[in-house]
Amino acid sequence: MATYELTVSAPNIEDRSFTKPLLCGPGPCDLWPSVSEALAKPVITPLCDEHYNVIDDIRAGLQYIFQTRNKLVYAVSGSGHSGMETIISNLLGPNEVLLIASRGIWDQRANIIANRYGIKTIIISAPFNTTFSHDTLEVALNKHKPTALFITHGDSSTGTVQNLKGLGEICHRHGAFLLVDTVVSLVGEPFFMDDWGVDAVYTSTQKALSGPAGISPVAFSQFAADKINNRKHEPPFYFDAKLLAQQWNCYGNTRQYHHTLSLPLLWALRQCLREVAKETLPKSWARHAATTAHFHRRIQQMSLQFLVPKPEDRLATVTTIVLPNGYDYVKFYKYIRDKYNILIFAGLGPTVGKALRIGLMGVNSTIEVADAVADAMMGALKVKSLL
Ligand SMILES: *Cc1c(COP(=O)(O)O)cnc(C)c1O
Repeated sequence: MATYELTVSAPNIEDRSFTKPLLCGPGPCDLWPSVSEALAKPVITPLCDEHYNVIDDIRAGLQYIFQTRNKLVYAVSGSGHSGMETIISNLLGPNEVLLIASRGIWDQRANIIANRYGIKTIIISAPFNTTFSHDTLEVALNKHKPTALFITHGDSSTGTVQNLKGLGEICHRHGAFLLVDTVVSLVGEPFFMDDWGVDAVYTSTQKALSGPAGISPVAFSQFAADKINNRKHEPPFYFDAKLLAQQWNCYGNTRQYHHTLSLPLLWALRQCLREVAKETLPKSWARHAATTAHFHRRIQQMSLQFLVPKPEDRLATVTTIVLPNGYDYVKFYKYIRDKYNILIFAGLGPTVGKALRIGLMGVNSTIEVADAVADAMMGALKVKSLL
């Protein structure tokens, strides 16, 4: 046997033990127990028919959670950002115009991504603790005549939920596609792709779906699919919806290899979808609304303020809370982590130093978890050193 001179010696990677915190930030969320089990299912290959049964189950589940009959529905290999990059890069080419309705950090990300593809962006902003009126959006659509409008449904950086009902019709009247981020809202807030006229949407598994990060469902309308099939620009190979449609059997039994899909993630996503199908969407939306209403009553009893002034703008999955003057947000969430082993977050993007962000979603959208977080906050509010 040959001997080898290693220039780097083997590291000593020890088993470590730790107590998992309760994940009550804006994501990732804890997993459904059945999803943890699904992650351990066997890895199979595209040469096994079962591989395509998994894909078919996932596509049916995604049509349900997006409420769409469209065919171009699949999951991108990557976290939520890969869904964002997919819909932007497939639908717009260099020098086309993307109108971005900005009220949080995700719209800023969309702007960065679009700019990297040479897409022209126009940004209209709303104060971060509010949402857009359709009139404001229509004025901007009329003025700028963009190829598409990008808007975030639930914004986890600010805790707002945007009204989208009827917005697709407005966009179409002005010849624009409607692109929507539902990463933190889907399954926690009502969403109807077809009825609301949404042309491209993405979500992710690690928020209200209570799955692991790393796979992002996307869906395109027929209007969007037609543009993709006739487009003049090429998106990145890895995110090419035309090629991925062939891998995901969106238009029949094509079974084209594009890249190796992660079977543990496919099994996990499939199980997340089984959980939603078993509960049903209306019951999932009602559970998220009831848990958050209960949590909000507890917050009001503590005399804390919501960052989002209008109740109808408050997101059911992530709540943003303003602490009394003098509190340090970072010290506050760290105290709750250390003392109670509950993870909540401080602000992000426009809400840095302005709010706490608390996520009650997926498997953690229960009265018990809401009470545990509220009790921990009550405890922390009594600690003078956090002031
Ligand atoms: C978390 C989140 C993202 C980003 O998802 P990643 O999985 O971290 O890439 C995008 N949009 C919204 C609204 C989010 O809450």
